[in-house]
Amino acid sequence: MSEANVKSEPSACGYSVGDWECRPGAYLFDAGTGEGYDPQDCTYLCPHCRTQDYLESAKEEAESVSSYGGTGGSGTGLDIWKAAERQGLEANRPAALNALAQLGPVQALNDDEIVLCNTQQAAR
Ligand SMILES: [Zn+2]
Repeated sequence: MSEANVKSEPSACGYSVGDWECRPGAYLFDAGTGEGYDPQDCTYLCPHCRTQDYLESAKEEAESVSSYGGTGGSGTGLDIWKAAERQGLEANRPAALNALAQLGPVQALNDDEIVLCNTQQAAR
């Protein structure tokens, strides 16, 4: 059963950042725990091999979350976008530039304000 699952998924691209690694299915998982990955956990798209999907979902999140807070830290939609944009560019610059150009301006929420961002647009 697990064999069929593995075959139908894209394979890991080898990208890693800190303890986080790309897994089959093109999601990142925390390899530092030594527990392997949970195939059900599809929280973190790999910014290297799914750069476009990664940035699209970050845009959606940045435009719908005005602020967040929790054990992992806190911030605003603007923070979400800036972090994702930086990570996308670091992970796969050509794909990120292409994806950013296609996405257009991002109306990131910063508490009560809307901040237009996307360095690809601003640079033109
Ligand atoms: Zn990957």
